[in-house]
Amino acid sequence: MALRFFNTYSREIEEFEPSDPTTRPIKMYTCGPTVYSRAHIGNFRAYIFEDLLQRHLELRSYKVRRVMNITDVEDKTIRGAREAGVPLQKFTEQFKDAFFEDAHTLRIKRADEYPTATDQHYIDRMVEMIRVLISNGLAYQADDNSVYFRINKFPDYGKLAHFDLTQLQSTGRVKHDEYDKEHIGDFALWKAWDQEDGDVKWDSPWGPGRPGWHIECSAMSTALLGDQIDIHCGGVDNIFPHHEAEIAQSEGVTGKKFVRYWLHCAHLLVDGQKMAKSLGNFYTVPDVLAKGYTGRELRYALLRVHYRVPLNFTWEGMNEARESLDRIDEWLVRLRDIAQKQNAQRSSPNAQGLIRKPDFENALDDDLNISAALGVLFESIRDTNRAMDQNEMDSASATAWLDWWNRINTVLGLEVEADMVIPTEVAQLAEERENARREKNWKRSDELREQIFALGWEARDTKEGPKLTRRGGSG
Ligand SMILES: [Zn+2]
Repeated sequence: MALRFFNTYSREIEEFEPSDPTTRPIKMYTCGPTVYSRAHIGNFRAYIFEDLLQRHLELRSYKVRRVMNITDVEDKTIRGAREAGVPLQKFTEQFKDAFFEDAHTLRIKRADEYPTATDQHYIDRMVEMIRVLISNGLAYQADDNSVYFRINKFPDYGKLAHFDLTQLQSTGRVKHDEYDKEHIGDFALWKAWDQEDGDVKWDSPWGPGRPGWHIECSAMSTALLGDQIDIHCGGVDNIFPHHEAEIAQSEGVTGKKFVRYWLHCAHLLVDGQKMAKSLGNFYTVPDVLAKGYTGRELRYALLRVHYRVPLNFTWEGMNEARESLDRIDEWLVRLRDIAQKQNAQRSSPNAQGLIRKPDFENALDDDLNISAALGVLFESIRDTNRAMDQNEMDSASATAWLDWWNRINTVLGLEVEADMVIPTEVAQLAEERENARREKNWKRSDELREQIFALGWEARDTKEGPKLTRRGGSG
């Protein structure tokens, strides 16, 4: 089955074809964080979707070169730095670090490049692109000294968002400071310096100022990936105006089709509502870890819903993620146990289960259908557990299943973390506790539970018997 994606541009599922079928290189650009505050779990849902996409392409033997930009200058970063009374660079640095820390916690593969907008190399490129746009008649400097993109001169403007420009005219509210523009929808390429910007400014042929957010992405993506990108991703809220503007600017300069496939990730809701600080349902990765969950559990919770479906984040959902991972872990322990034993057991068809093996990848080929792919995994777990219950699994079959897991896990990224390996001391206490429970010595059992707790572990009693889990901390 061929790889297929829903392309936002055509609003259709399209067969994915690499620009070069022999070497299969994929140029992928993903809009990164604006570093004015710590990214929230909704942002990370999109980054995890992009991670899944990259990992699946790699599983399918494509060579992915991924660039993710860091937006370290725009209105919010400037306002934040001013309010904090620190230089812009210093202000954004902390959130950049936090972003990398959280991405690591969630096991998101690193991009090949993380260009930053304030890098002089890219500022020069932005200025050059704006200069070309002006000379092509696609941009103009207004009376406020800022430079704007002239959307009326770019007939394709609105195509990605399926947006009618006349609508923009009739419903658009004209803000006082936007009277200088020819059209309400014209967006800033270069924002003239004003007092509020403090010392945040660069020289340009149009006077001191700073780039608009959209041109930053056009400059960094084409600088690092060339005029044409295979896959461009982001959240649905990036479609308009950000990605629409990226197309207009990039194609306005190069005259070539900018992006072959546009993929966008749906919103994340919390308890069925839009996440907002005012509603008290706004969570960052550390907020979730502080509740005792691991990065692995959060990764699973954010990964398991198809990227084009809004994901409703709940604490119940986090517990379900934990249970699902427990099932995977218990299954792997059983398989490893059998794989190590050199038994001559005959395997049942369920144990071999070879017929199902390509289903996981095939599901992901279908516009990254992760729910179907996970369905294949859990169905396999159920069938092979049944075979193991009935002693119908030989070591060769168990090894084959482990190999299969290792293969699909290059996409899932759900391997057990090193700090989940139970220390001997804790394991001994847990065993003592089990004995105490067997003797119905509840007082002793509780004491041991507390000792285990003090060592950073939690003894939980589940349907399948007692279990140890890491207490809180980072995943
Ligand atoms: Zn962008």
